[in-house]
Amino acid sequence: MQKNDSEMLAALNHFTRRAHTLEEVYLFDLILCDNEIDRDGDCFSEQALKAMQKLFVGVTGIFDHNLKSGNQTARIFRTEVLTDASRRTKTGQPYQYLKANAYMVRTNANADLIREIDAGIKKEASISCAASEQICSICGTNRLKQHCGHIKGRSYQGALCYTTLDGISDAYEWSFVAVPAQKYAGVTKTLGGSTAAQPETKMLERALEAASGTLDKLTDALRKDVIRLCYRGGETACAKALADSTIHMDAEALLKLRQSLLIGAQAQSEREAAAAKANSQLYPQKNAASASEPLPAMDEFRMHRKKEGDAR
Ligand SMILES: [Zn+2]
Repeated sequence: MQKNDSEMLAALNHFTRRAHTLEEVYLFDLILCDNEIDRDGDCFSEQALKAMQKLFVGVTGIFDHNLKSGNQTARIFRTEVLTDASRRTKTGQPYQYLKANAYMVRTNANADLIREIDAGIKKEASISCAASEQICSICGTNRLKQHCGHIKGRSYQGALCYTTLDGISDAYEWSFVAVPAQKYAGVTKTLGGSTAAQPETKMLERALEAASGTLDKLTDALRKDVIRLCYRGGETACAKALADSTIHMDAEALLKLRQSLLIGAQAQSEREAAAAKANSQLYPQKNAASASEPLPAMDEFRMHRKKEGDAR
């Protein structure tokens, strides 16, 4: 018996009623979850992986094997968070994953299943846990508490939008499912602990998803409109800072900003009209010449700004 095997056996015998020998048990390991952005646009934080490292020890999992042999159970007896420095996640972080060592007591009923695992038939681990934080990568909003308008998978000024899962308070279960024809392989997860959603919940989820999609589109259009207003007075550093800050704003904040920008634009037009009137009274001839060749409104405004700068 190798040292590693005897250590493993000692660890797993903490969870059994009597001490088992290596011949009686089948040991295997699996990756429960990682910090890579998954197909739902979510990833776990390092802190979340470490929380689950503790919570998943001793948790029983199910092999959704096949109907003939029924479901088989296995138990996790050891976990560790590992870093693969040679691999980077989509966000450029070193790849980190939660690896679990599990065992099953060998029986006649699970002999076929064990052969399958040994043969390396593709399995997908699915975990169920409670996460109280779903943080938007763009604005830092906890999406469970507030809708921020950013859409997972989209890019905002070159930054990919995804959600980081954190605040893990419980690990409910895990399962291992054979997925020979699955399009994506890897880790799936159920958050909140409910694996089978009620039909009403699903209907509401779909309705909410559709409404969020519409709101996202409207917010995007509104943001573009506000950015245009920000640059109305020219591409100054101040205008750029204001335009850039809109990326962190939800629809409500954008509406407020748009309102105040419109008021500012209105006041500016009135000032310009008054100045033009005063100018025409002072220099009627010069004004007559410029009237035949009017300057575009934007250029006129820029010149005005520049003059202010010179005077200071
Ligand atoms: Zn956001």
